[in-house]
Amino acid sequence: MRTRLAAVSVDLDEIDNYVAIHGLGALDVPRTAIYDKALPRLAALFDELGIKATFFAIGADLARPENARALAALAADGHEIANHSLSHYYDLTRRDIATQRREVKGGADAIEAAVGVRPVGFRAPGYTITDQLFDVLLEAGVTYDSSVFPCPPYYLAKTAAIGLYRLRGRASRSVVDDPRVLGAPADPYRIGRPYQRRGQGMLELPIGVTGDLTGRLPYIGTNVVLAGEYGARALTRLATARRFVNLELHGIDLADAREDGLEALAPHQPDLRRTAAFKRASLEAALRSLARQGHRFVTLGEAAQHYAASAA
Ligand SMILES: [Zn+2]
Repeated sequence: MRTRLAAVSVDLDEIDNYVAIHGLGALDVPRTAIYDKALPRLAALFDELGIKATFFAIGADLARPENARALAALAADGHEIANHSLSHYYDLTRRDIATQRREVKGGADAIEAAVGVRPVGFRAPGYTITDQLFDVLLEAGVTYDSSVFPCPPYYLAKTAAIGLYRLRGRASRSVVDDPRVLGAPADPYRIGRPYQRRGQGMLELPIGVTGDLTGRLPYIGTNVVLAGEYGARALTRLATARRFVNLELHGIDLADAREDGLEALAPHQPDLRRTAAFKRASLEAALRSLARQGHRFVTLGEAAQHYAASAA
């Protein structure tokens, strides 16, 4: 029987990133709620289910000793820590190549200093990547990337949201992606040129979407945690149409507006309107359903090793 793998990854975007993406400037909310509150909830759930996950860290956040210690503990526990750039510029793909190099290397340096192991995987801020950024990753010795999100519903929603913010006179820090990403493979592949085509380049582990027959709906944290237990199981069944399930979460998926003092952000961030307990139950239902359907949980680094030979 073919091995069916599933990987769970968590982007550790801190609260400042959400303030920036909604163009909110100075909002009075605790800026360390992701590392202090949400991360322990995620780690406890993974522990309970015996899942080793991949955590994508923003290098600059590791200047805070508590954050660096938390990641070192996760790494010691067998989780993978991967690179989510140094500063999480949403427009990283539009910056000059020197900045891109600094962001990739700086993120890896900060993680290596914090956990003692140099990361092998990369995820670009905002799921936006380009051929030039792939070149920078290759130069930096990155083994795999997991940024491509070939998801039509997500693309349309993001493009519409950025336009809406402009109409309201608020500047979102998000940038619109190249629409060719919608034609990219949704299963592990080696990138060609342009990267949306298959080739001989770096291994890409695209972010989870459901099967082509169900319109490549996003199989990511926001959708899963808000779906409720029944909905989360239904989405999971659609996602397992793919041979590899790459479930991407964000720390905020298990944040709680009231317990974590994030009420002021809740009007802008729909997932904060549900409690952490509700979202945890949905996520747990999805993860248990993946296990029941015979998927073996691996880190993205392990998945990369598995597909390195077969993905073309
Ligand atoms: Zn991010």
